[in-house]
Amino acid sequence: MTKTLFERIIDREISADILYEDERVLAFRDINPQAPVHVLVIPKQPLAQVEHMTPTDSPLVGHLFWVATEVARQLGLTGGYRLVINNGVDAGQTVYHLHVHLLGGRVLGWPPG
Ligand code: AMP
Repeated sequence: MTKTLFERIIDREISADILYEDERVLAFRDINPQAPVHVLVIPKQPLAQVEHMTPTDSPLVGHLFWVATEVARQLGLTGGYRLVINNGVDAGQTVYHLHVHLLGGRVLGWPPG
């Protein structure tokens, strides 16, 4: 099967500005930032989208969120930030490898587009 873009980043076939890595998760800066801080947190294990998760994936998905909060802390986002998962076409998902967007560094509008 063809690797997704994010699998190629995990395998270091495409370079990325990596901020955090452990055995289960990688966090790197988004190439097209929508805020002063825009980081993607992804599992190393491929899971195309959040709607495919099963109860077995709960610890991994929980860990993704914990890593996002840790990166936010390291980047000094004391005023707040937003964690977003786009699921499917209507939400604008373009890469079918689960990822949490960490957005911050400015006041974020609500509702999102
Ligand atoms: P989504 O639209 O939720 O699937 O988000 C995919 C994100 O991946 C977008 O915000 C893109 O800007 C980002 N992206 C695409 N290619 C790269 C890359 N090579 N390195 C970092 N981020 C990327």
